[in-house]
Amino acid sequence: MIVIIGSINMDLVLRVPRMPMPGETLAGGKFMTIPGGKGANQAVACARLCQDGTPVAMVACLGSDAFGGQMRASIVANGIDDRYIADIADEATGIASILVDDQAQNSIVLAAGANARLDVAQLERARELIASASIVLLQLEVPMPVVTYAIDMAHALGKTVVLNPAPAQALPAGMLEKIDYLILNEIEAAMLAEEESDDIPMLVAKLRSRGARNVVVTLGEKGVYGHFERAGARHLDAQKVKAVDTTAAGDTFIGGFIAALDAGRDEFTAIAYGQAAAAISVTRTGAQISIPMRDEVRL
Ligand code: ATP
Repeated sequence: MIVIIGSINMDLVLRVPRMPMPGETLAGGKFMTIPGGKGANQAVACARLCQDGTPVAMVACLGSDAFGGQMRASIVANGIDDRYIADIADEATGIASILVDDQAQNSIVLAAGANARLDVAQLERARELIASASIVLLQLEVPMPVVTYAIDMAHALGKTVVLNPAPAQALPAGMLEKIDYLILNEIEAAMLAEEESDDIPMLVAKLRSRGARNVVVTLGEKGVYGHFERAGARHLDAQKVKAVDTTAAGDTFIGGFIAALDAGRDEFTAIAYGQAAAAISVTRTGAQISIPMRDEVRL
């Protein structure tokens, strides 16, 4: 069982010819509602990429609005256990309002909504579920005290704890030591290491000196750098593909990496599997809809 404790958002995507000025009204183009949120994206990636039908469950919060029902339906349709996803009365489901202009520039406003209502009481209600997990995966789109409590609980229960520290923010003292795998992109690595540098081995060494045992840095089309306690450090190239939309490439990579680890593969094979899945996702538009199924991914 893989348990994801994290966010669920509805992405509200509107094409615009250019970004509006303050006070201006613009005529927009195509409008789309697309299921998203880092927690939900990574849960879908795990569910689609697990080799042996490993169950995947989410601990999360939805609002009591129409988006809540749509997001729950989408999660269930992906085969994810939704029993520990709460409906919060008088709260909106998390949304990301995204404007995309003709130059493919994004402008994004997030409203956490129900994601901000995930609390430790809900984690305690999910203790039995978390105790039955092999891997517990978290991101930073739910309140930091809840992330801290969940990591403490999962670590004390002897689970493999994976953190994707996105969006980037400072971590509480002592958290890195309880994380088995820290998976992050270059920007997040520089921010957490407090260094303005693109020297990835140096940034990773710094994170490891602060207690992170196994660190995986995704580098977009440049691939992945991994440094593991047992297997050592190596850079693996990305697969060469014609990318059309890299949204959720990182989420797809994480799902693939975790699916392979859960199946008992070694860490560098898990990186290769994650990259194979992410390479397919960047050839398709959209977030969750671009994540491939396990049968499509060839190592
Ligand atoms: P996002 O926030 O968009 O999900 P991210 O910054 O978390 O992205 P990236 O490092 O951009 O994650 O991408 C994750 C992985 O996806 C990369 O390590 C790589 O394997 C794959 N990938 C991303 N972009 C490309 C590309 N253009 N071609 C091939 N593979 C890619």
